[in-house]
Amino acid sequence: MAGPVTGCRACGGRLSVTMADLGMQPPSNAFLASMSAAEGEKRYPLRAKVCEQCKLVQVDYDVAPEELFGNYVYFSSYSDDWLAHARQYCDMARRRFHLDPRSLVVELASNDGYLLKNFVAMGIPVLGIDPSDTVAAAAEKIGVPTLVEFFGARLAGKLVREGRRADLIVGNNVLAHVPQLNDFVAGIAVLLKPEGTASIEFPHLLKLIEQVEFDTIYHEHYSYISLLAIEQVFGRHGLRIHDVEELPTHGGSLRIFAAHAARADLEDSAALRALRAQEAAAGLDVLPRASKPAGARCSISSRGPSAKASGWPPTARRPRAIRCSISAARRARISRWSRTAIRTSSRSSCRVPTSRWSRRRS
Ligand SMILES: [Zn+2]
Repeated sequence: MAGPVTGCRACGGRLSVTMADLGMQPPSNAFLASMSAAEGEKRYPLRAKVCEQCKLVQVDYDVAPEELFGNYVYFSSYSDDWLAHARQYCDMARRRFHLDPRSLVVELASNDGYLLKNFVAMGIPVLGIDPSDTVAAAAEKIGVPTLVEFFGARLAGKLVREGRRADLIVGNNVLAHVPQLNDFVAGIAVLLKPEGTASIEFPHLLKLIEQVEFDTIYHEHYSYISLLAIEQVFGRHGLRIHDVEELPTHGGSLRIFAAHAARADLEDSAALRALRAQEAAAGLDVLPRASKPAGARCSISSRGPSAKASGWPPTARRPRAIRCSISAARRARISRWSRTAIRTSSRSSCRVPTSRWSRRRS
């Protein structure tokens, strides 16, 4: 479903508060071959809004997933750091969840099999699910069975009818990419065995705000997720988050562990309680007063991008100012924002001013 989003994708609440307004932007990662091809490229509104009720931050204009992910050329295996991250995760998961040859591990957005291949090597049955046929073909080549499908309640029901339910469902950096968040989490609840665990990683909204990671806001990311918002989504579908880890990946991520809410043997971990308190202290659970200006403004000059903080969240800690030198690789990333940013010299700088930020990073 493409077009303007009229209510919160999680709870249907009003999207009245703007966290960041980045104007009209083309879909990122299109890798156009020439500047002339960019001139005719479609542009869509790119705004991160806050739901009045559940406080989920989300874009309020959806570009169709088929347009964003149809010819997906991001292969997870290209990143050595990410491969190491996946290997460590699999070792941990096998021990923690007592996985063995009778188990089934399902990964949602399994890409080229970069993670599941570790379980295959351990003799643990796996199933990958990914909507991109290019990455799925690569996965099949290395022995990772992969369904080329978008995941949701319908597909989960079909797998269960075929006798396939998961001991472990892994979803790393997929939740933000899902426009139909409720359908996706409902699918997890259907596919997960009664004693199973879902382990989901996503970039943490609080880190985006504190470190002004404005370049992580783009159309592929439909949602910008806090623990506060995602606990409500999981709760709506009979799942309960009982543990969380903070990770350094993608500018600061969370890994949540969820199980069926009926599980009486699981208590909230100390880390989970601490993170709830941290988000509350940052004001992620409140809206700004009406008098405060809401909405960030961002622009790109020949010297690079700049952005002003919005009035939301009202008490989050932010850097006083950011000065960052931009390498060639970084500038290429910024080209998501505007192809014109690439014109600058080999090193340029950006300054992100605000009166309320309280610390500096290099
Ligand atoms: Zn909501």
